Amino acid sequence: MKKHYHVLGGIHGCMPDVNDIYHTKMEAREGLKWHIENAREDGYKYSGTLRDGYFEEEESEVRQWPNNYFEIVTCFEEDCLQDTDLMEW
Ligand SMILES: [Zn+2]
Repeated sequence: MKKHYHVLGGIHGCMPDVNDIYHTKMEAREGLKWHIENAREDGYKYSGTLRDGYFEEEESEVRQWPNNYFEIVTCFEEDCLQDTDLMEW
């Protein structure tokens, strides 16, 4: 079992649009931060903290009915790593 972290993002109740895999929580937080900063540059609003590893979309000028999220999830599934170059840890 290889502990790793996913940054997931997308619409609540759907398959995630974003599914990035990281070795450490620090890296996952950087990845999460990148997604939030990008979304904010596009005018979307998110509330949450990197510490909690969770951001929820808020109403904004570009989205009247917000339903998106980004989060960090801890995972132990080795299958996740098969298609990544992180297998060689
Ligand atoms: Zn996984």
